Amino acid sequence: MSSDRETFSHFEVSDVRFPTSRDQDGSDAMNRDPDYSAAYVTVYTTAGASGNGFVFTIGRGNEVEVAAIRAVEQLVVGLEVDEVLADMGAFWRLLTHDSQLRWLGPEKGVMHMAIGAVVNAVWDLYAKREKMPLWQLLSGFSPQKIVDLIDFRHLTDQLTPEEALAILEKVEGGRERRTQELLENGYPAYTTSAGWIGYSDDKVTKLVHQALDDGFTHLKFKVGGDIEDDLRRVGMVRELVGPDVRLSVDANQVWDVNEAIDNVRQLAVHDIYWVEEPTSPDDVLGFGEISRAVGPIKVATGEHVANRVMFKQFLSSGAIDVCQIDACRVAGVNENIAILLMAAKFQIPVCPHAGGVGLCEIVQHLSMFDYVAVSADIDEHWIEFVDHLHEHFVDPVEVVQGRYRAPRYAGSGASMHAESVKDFGYPQGAKWNEMTNSF
Ligand SMILES: [Mg+2]
Repeated sequence: MSSDRETFSHFEVSDVRFPTSRDQDGSDAMNRDPDYSAAYVTVYTTAGASGNGFVFTIGRGNEVEVAAIRAVEQLVVGLEVDEVLADMGAFWRLLTHDSQLRWLGPEKGVMHMAIGAVVNAVWDLYAKREKMPLWQLLSGFSPQKIVDLIDFRHLTDQLTPEEALAILEKVEGGRERRTQELLENGYPAYTTSAGWIGYSDDKVTKLVHQALDDGFTHLKFKVGGDIEDDLRRVGMVRELVGPDVRLSVDANQVWDVNEAIDNVRQLAVHDIYWVEEPTSPDDVLGFGEISRAVGPIKVATGEHVANRVMFKQFLSSGAIDVCQIDACRVAGVNENIAILLMAAKFQIPVCPHAGGVGLCEIVQHLSMFDYVAVSADIDEHWIEFVDHLHEHFVDPVEVVQGRYRAPRYAGSGASMHAESVKDFGYPQGAKWNEMTNSF
């Protein structure tokens, strides 16, 4: 063993929280007062290189994610960096299959999300090392190299490595053209910025006009409060936008299955495009019932779907029409690629969840990779856009005329400004001190 081999040396982990609940930004029927937060990790190597990742939470409990990321640190420190980057599939399995940590899930919740933050941080480091945006790094991998990133355990009844390879090989020839197309035209976005449940009618009206002026043709609104009020608010928005703009609604899990069916049927008078999270994210059978009952309105979910095995059931059973991957819910890039491949097999469009801090920044890379190398499809595909907190990121998203510009910087977009991490550090940061003193 030579002394100059580069290994992972240590993690820096920070509890970063933004006081978004004060203005009801991000509020919905289930989550009334979110403080958008990140358990933010920097993974360092002995040569001084680093990569960033995070778990998104909505406030209380962010310290639990910080502790969970710390629990992963001992598995990573000492590993040789080149060996890890040469076989990211093996790295993913090393973390996810650690039997003692796995007991805390398995493969779901706090520990799984913490592993996702670490996996994503190492992908960030990898892309920075290659001086490429993450989406282009992944899009340059051979079909076999992409397949090798995936753990097929518990998937092979619906997706085998051979099928995955065939999906990737079928569209390999058009990669260059689709890459150019993204660099020139970007990727479609829809906006949730006008739609938070805690906003007044005046504020919603102002933000809807703003969204139309900004070129958006698809808007999403929170429902799941009193149904009469939902009908009134969605009706008001339909009046404002006219017949040609797509309107989707999001109930954030609050309804029971039959209640969801009744309510969506009532909301249908306002021409709804998709209903998101009508019920529990664990209820595959319930989603199937809702989906069959409310068509042609589409049923969407994913931001709280715990892992690829749950996605397998939603996708293969026809329980959802729109697949909403989340960059920070499952265990990082590798697991999301497995989900992209299953969505491609079952021909279900992937429209990522990105309402949160930093989720837009990361997940755009997965959608662009999906278009270039996996689904090769962009019709009826949108990445969610929420216009909050981008200023805290070194490479904030650029959304112009309702489309994400393709990132050209090196990395995954996950790096926050050092001052933001410091000032919004919880509870000791200067911004939290100011607020405590002002009460
Ligand atoms: Mg949602």
